[in-house]
Amino acid sequence: MCFICQKVQGDIALPGRFICQDELVQVMHLVPGPDGSVSLGEPMIEPLRHAPGLADLTSEEAQAFGLPRKMEELLRGEQNK
Ligand SMILES: [Zn+2]
Repeated sequence: MCFICQKVQGDIALPGRFICQDELVQVMHLVPGPDGSVSLGEPMIEPLRHAPGLADLTSEEAQAFGLPRKMEELLRGEQNK
């Protein structure tokens, strides 16, 4: 099981602070820096379902990540067909 899936299932502690989640993704702050501060303006978005890469996201997950439709199509190799 990959690192992100382990976090999603609660098998390991989240390194950054949890912000929110919906039915597709969870959002958290980046890992605190060496001084213990958290990058409040830099959220990390992760799928709740195992997806090894961006091209493995469903269309709904890709939209939850904020990927523009054009980029999603490029990742799926759906351009110029
Ligand atoms: Zn996974």
